[in-house]
Amino acid sequence: MGFGFTTSAAFCSDLVNVSGCGPYRSTTTYRTPNFYKHRNNMSLPRRTKIIATIGPATDSEEQLEKLILAGMNVARINMSHASHEGAKEIVDRIRDISKRVDRNVGILMDTQGPAIRTGDLSTEIDLTPGDVIALTVRGETSEEFHSVDVNYEHLCDDINVDDVVIVDNGNIKLKVLDKQQNHLRCEVLTEGVLGSRRHINLPGVRVNLPALTEKDIKDIELGIEIGVDIFAMSFVREAQDVMRLRAILDYRNAPQKIVAKLEDQQGVKNLDEIIEVADAIMVARGDLGIEVAIEDLPPIQRHIVKSCIIKGCPVIVATHMLESMIDNPMPTRAEVTDVANAVFEQADAIMLSGETSVGKYPAESVETMSKIARRIERSGGANYAELGERKSVASKLVYAASSMAKEVDADAIVIFTRDGRMAKNAAWTRSLHTKIFAFTNKELTQKQIALLWGTEPFVIDFSEDSNETVKEASRFLMKHDLVKRGSKVVFITDVRIRGKMVDTIQLEEL
Ligand code: PEP
Repeated sequence: MGFGFTTSAAFCSDLVNVSGCGPYRSTTTYRTPNFYKHRNNMSLPRRTKIIATIGPATDSEEQLEKLILAGMNVARINMSHASHEGAKEIVDRIRDISKRVDRNVGILMDTQGPAIRTGDLSTEIDLTPGDVIALTVRGETSEEFHSVDVNYEHLCDDINVDDVVIVDNGNIKLKVLDKQQNHLRCEVLTEGVLGSRRHINLPGVRVNLPALTEKDIKDIELGIEIGVDIFAMSFVREAQDVMRLRAILDYRNAPQKIVAKLEDQQGVKNLDEIIEVADAIMVARGDLGIEVAIEDLPPIQRHIVKSCIIKGCPVIVATHMLESMIDNPMPTRAEVTDVANAVFEQADAIMLSGETSVGKYPAESVETMSKIARRIERSGGANYAELGERKSVASKLVYAASSMAKEVDADAIVIFTRDGRMAKNAAWTRSLHTKIFAFTNKELTQKQIALLWGTEPFVIDFSEDSNETVKEASRFLMKHDLVKRGSKVVFITDVRIRGKMVDTIQLEEL
């Protein structure tokens, strides 16, 4: 483990934008120091990261800048709605604005996944309890008064009489009365209006659709081309699903991380095997809240977050966190408590969907989340990280360094990382007492770290001499007021001792 510095660079004391400033100056351009200047003078940064979904309400230059300044760490492009052209424009804009305002923003592309939908209707259908509606597949027509086509050809094979079909995110519930090869007769259980192309959930049914559709693969190819940092994969039901996407990325030499979205009972059941292969997990409560009994959602969220933290896998809590802020400037008390709960559980990130994609108060939603997160972080957390099953030497070393930092009341822990593994270990400590700074030599890694709990990433060039790189990191932190003269800093680095690279924890008073 550890890192060997291979990139040679000379450094000078002027640390910002020193490109071309003389023979002793590196070509390093440092990123993100302003991040801390916008933090209302609170000494500890916000630890819980915020993901905001970009949509018609926020895809303009002006709105994106507002979201970034409000504290969005990761921008999510939802391919259920975004066009290829729109996605490319959003990526270009975010890259430009984040550079201009000097903030680190990751970009996550979320695949649509195998969505089951009703077909087009010439007019909406008013449904009342007791009505009968036919669901047809493979182009079959029906004699029933109400009928609609469904895009999932195995519907009648996979579903049984008395199963429930949920339409339009729970707005309409149907019960299967009888089935034929291409035709289901269903009783309407709840009143509702059925429009065209409504989303269908089949709770508890093992849906026979690939986790990656043709559309998803085309979208992923676009994501690679336009350089998103992270992919979120919808409806992951088993490890194999993630491995399929990984194979596509590996084949194309694409460095994006993979977030596995857990949205149904099967995904939750296979959580342990999915954690082993995914880079992060998302508790996708929108679909999950339909696929499981709604009262089971809180314990399932707790179970997923706790399991991820115990195993050292980053975890995101998503959907309906501040839903009422789509229309109102203030959240409900219950929403504040929901965000607070996810922050207390110490999820790496919390996510906004409609609030920022179509809502009237997108920047206010990010600000509200940010305020709640800071407040709750001050009062502690669930501390599942203490139960962490740390197996790798690197993870044990970082955990030991975090304990030491607490003992000596250090101001910061500093790690160095090329591809983000040490940053993931550092975030895993859930070190509430000490700031965590991650230095990397890759902009992509810096952007991917935007998702990780409590870890603030910066880009510098790595020197072949690790002592030089440590000195450079110290100078950087001092220069940008991230630490002060006299601050105690714990560095985790490798040094050459008697010809061998040895991992070390170094405590320095700057
Ligand atoms: C969810 O279901 O909570 C979710 C995040 O997925 P999507 O918004 O793609 O339905």
